[in-house]
Amino acid sequence: MSIIKAPRGTRDIWGEEIYLWHKLEEVVRLLASSFQYQEIRTPIFESTELFARGVGEATDIVQKEMYTFPDKGGRSLTLRPEGTAPVMRAYLEHGLNITNPRVKWFYMGPMFRYERPQAGRMRQFHQFGFEAIGYSQPACDAEIILIAWLVSKKLGLENLSLEINSLGCNQCREEYIKVLQDFLGKEGKNLCANCRTRAEKNPLRVLDCKEETCQEVFRSSAFPVVQDFLCGECERHQETLEEILRELDIPFSLNPYLVRGLDYYTRTAFEVKTGELGAQDAIAGGGRYDNLSSALGGPPVPGVGFAAGMERIILLMSKKYEPSSLAEQPLFYLAPLDIPGEGALLQLASSLGERAIPFYLEFADKGIKYHLRKAQKMGVGTVIMAGGEEGEKGEFIWKDMSSGEQRSMSKEELLARLGEERRSAEDS
Ligand SMILES: [Zn+2]
Ligand SMILES: [Zn+2]
Repeated sequence: MSIIKAPRGTRDIWGEEIYLWHKLEEVVRLLASSFQYQEIRTPIFESTELFARGVGEATDIVQKEMYTFPDKGGRSLTLRPEGTAPVMRAYLEHGLNITNPRVKWFYMGPMFRYERPQAGRMRQFHQFGFEAIGYSQPACDAEIILIAWLVSKKLGLENLSLEINSLGCNQCREEYIKVLQDFLGKEGKNLCANCRTRAEKNPLRVLDCKEETCQEVFRSSAFPVVQDFLCGECERHQETLEEILRELDIPFSLNPYLVRGLDYYTRTAFEVKTGELGAQDAIAGGGRYDNLSSALGGPPVPGVGFAAGMERIILLMSKKYEPSSLAEQPLFYLAPLDIPGEGALLQLASSLGERAIPFYLEFADKGIKYHLRKAQKMGVGTVIMAGGEEGEKGEFIWKDMSSGEQRSMSKEELLARLGEERRSAEDS
């Protein structure tokens, strides 16, 4: 019988890599707590309709990439491909639009998309995101951008840049889409096959296309730029945001092709990028989604947020950090010399555990040579042995790994000593 492997497009996160994840999660939580965004944990699966309505029927996500399945009751369920629609679903379901219309939330967890797996793109991947719902002010767009910016900065990522665009509102966007559709219709023969279909169903998506032929079409001087179609209010929104960003010293550039893949975005769209790996990589992307609530059958509720792919950030972090340097090293290695020694060291482990002092416990089926070699490999400063003659006297052996010195001590002396070691480890 062959062994069973993790499904294609999924992977175990383990070994030293986990320390990078802990570090990233810690930075996200620290900023969330600083800006007082509360964590929300929505279900891993939702009704399929939520994403059909909230992400958009014409998007690649809904058309090709969702893990959709009937449950035993015949309901169509989908593993969440993104976090914003579930968050808005929760907001409406709990009646917050009536009881507490302004909320600031963050989430973190696995998402699922059926895509061709490749480096940095998994079928189960992870995102964190921040969402401010009930806020229509451009200053709130700026707060969201600032958080995305600070996460990247606190992780030590360099060469950061910000690209922004405005997609307009229901009024001005309709006009733009009409003109864009006309233009794309005329250019049809120069577009790739994908874009010819998209141009009819979801013309904004065309701007995402990386095909050289399509890029050339976008560069033509006749290409209609969304900025030229903004209504007065959308223009003011954009100007205010730009002003705040300048005051915050966040350098940005306008990218008229930045539209995001999802249908519910309005006005601000943005991406934070880093030049860390040579080419500019997007770390986080988001924007305003004033149409999402209505798309889900709710009343009009403004909102703005961003999501960031954690795998991509982990890859960037792995070039900067030595993962083991982020790990908590055990202070003590507990080496039993015989079976009674195991019992004595487990009692000691109980005291260490209660004080949350990190230690590593081995067992007596291994000899002293094994223990010392392993302790050295782990970089542990002190080995505590129990058993043998000292064990019969109720004593332990304390061995300092750097000097090689060792001496026996009573349990009371040992516990007093542990406290000191802990304090000096904390001070250093
Ligand atoms: Zn407008
Ligand atoms: Zn194309």
